Amino acid sequence: MDSREEHYLLDRLIPVPKEIKFKDGKEYLVRDRCKVVVNASETEGIAAKTEALFRNYWKVSPSVSVKADRKQARNPADAYAVRIEEKQLVISVKGMTGLMNALKTLRQLAEVERGTEKVSGYFLVPCEISDGPAMPFRGVHLCIFPETELWDIEKQLRIAAYHKFNYAVIEPWGIFPFESRPEFCFRDRRINRQDLRRLIDLGKELGITLFPQLNILGHASGARCAIGKHAILDAHPELQPIFEPDGWAWCLTNPHTRRILTDMVVELHEFFGNPAYFHIGCDEADHLATCRDCRRKNLESLLLDHLRYFHDLLAGRGARMLMWHDMLLTRGDERWKGYIVCGRPEQELGNLYKKLPKDIVICDWQYGYKEKAADAEPEWPTTKFFKKEGFDTLVCPWINTAGARSLGKLAGREKLMGMLETTWHLNHHRQFVCIYAHAAGAAWNPESSLTGDALPYLTMAQHLRQVLQDMETSQYERTGFNQLQVNAGWLPYQDA
Ligand SMILES: [Zn+2]
Repeated sequence: MDSREEHYLLDRLIPVPKEIKFKDGKEYLVRDRCKVVVNASETEGIAAKTEALFRNYWKVSPSVSVKADRKQARNPADAYAVRIEEKQLVISVKGMTGLMNALKTLRQLAEVERGTEKVSGYFLVPCEISDGPAMPFRGVHLCIFPETELWDIEKQLRIAAYHKFNYAVIEPWGIFPFESRPEFCFRDRRINRQDLRRLIDLGKELGITLFPQLNILGHASGARCAIGKHAILDAHPELQPIFEPDGWAWCLTNPHTRRILTDMVVELHEFFGNPAYFHIGCDEADHLATCRDCRRKNLESLLLDHLRYFHDLLAGRGARMLMWHDMLLTRGDERWKGYIVCGRPEQELGNLYKKLPKDIVICDWQYGYKEKAADAEPEWPTTKFFKKEGFDTLVCPWINTAGARSLGKLAGREKLMGMLETTWHLNHHRQFVCIYAHAAGAAWNPESSLTGDALPYLTMAQHLRQVLQDMETSQYERTGFNQLQVNAGWLPYQDA
């Protein structure tokens, strides 16, 4: 096989595996009773899952034999090795997670049989793959706005899982119908609890764990600042005392605030099936402590007490707390010049990090990159700072492709906990490709870059069609990276 052929085959893979060696020889035919051997140390459910995925991906029933192999216990759960020969396919994994990753790669690599009008089968070229992620936590952060359709979230979860993200933070923006606190949601934009429950269960099936976010500091409006809506106060002005006077931050001295937030945190954590993580937000908390009672208190003490309380609440429920980094570092500090930090000097929060429990996961969102091509590679000092201070840290890029790659390399090199790719309201069109191709690649195998002339739009589109087949939908607005291909008019919620 020459390098051009290899190039075509590699173009199909997102993320690109760490090692793949193509071989000459006859292809392996994916058909009924094709031979599949799985070596695994944790064998429970492996045969059934392999059969189910072959049926799902290629509509065939393979002949699967599972061999207990204690050596595989030494491998990370995510890793896998594959050997494709003419007569058999051999997969070596620790257990279920590795198996699913192996099959995701094989689905991307498989090619449809040629020369017929309609699909008659698939084949795989002979090769050996040895693959595993550069970091254990590879997350995507998804917002459910009142305008968001849950089928779109499902589509994004499916493509995220297909490209080997293993966590999804779900941030409901004023749309989660709390049973404990029904007024904390736009009354006419509540989502259906069962529909969201189905996505949480689907995540388990796909190998991506969903966990919730609730902002317990700023962003208390449940709506974006620039829009001026308030999920609670627009309908319930009687609840003003639990917010600071302008409504953006929660009032930290009001004991009712903590009771209400406790109810909501516990309800969300339970609803998501008591996952191992919970994100408390905490970014961009401007106008903190501006009411009569808060502004006369020491802000650092108020905040420390607030954060410790929720840390302990979640720890008691078996969950680690994630928080955005930006309020812990101060604007104007030369060390962070050119990087995102949001603490204001007058808030005097620069030493708060020293007093926080060290098992809080710091989510360091940095959305920039070089200003000019000739500039040096960013140093990402904020991330290195939190690591040095003993925190597990996630790099959090957004839609700057080069920035996402650079942060992925940093996370791999520094052996950080991982990456949390943010999406906010820009997760379609070009950004869809940045998020689910470039950032996914940077989280799994940051040292490789995607290849190919049509950079990865065409591969993404092909993978998305496979996802849509799984969703059993071909409705126009649900296909592709966007709902519509032409802007039919001015959209009042659109930024640009
Ligand atoms: Zn207050």
